[in-house]
Amino acid sequence: MSKANRGTSVPSLGPEWNVQHVSRSVDADGGRVACANCNVGVDLATSHREVEVAREVTLGRRRLRSDHDRHVLCSDGCVDEWLDRG
Ligand SMILES: [Zn+2]
Repeated sequence: MSKANRGTSVPSLGPEWNVQHVSRSVDADGGRVACANCNVGVDLATSHREVEVAREVTLGRRRLRSDHDRHVLCSDGCVDEWLDRG
């Protein structure tokens, strides 16, 4: 599995983004998206990695909201490279 842990920052997205969850995923509905790291086409019907990220957004003085996003990557190696990228 990837070395990514919850709380790992994602510099390529911005310093405020943190990893929430890395999962191995197969989406029966299929579809094709580009790997966030190497840009290769990922067939969602085959095994791939999904990284859920979140950041805290300040709405007012004390109100916080969590922004969530998901990124698809083709392999554990790409997850690690992507998280190491500055
Ligand atoms: Zn990749």
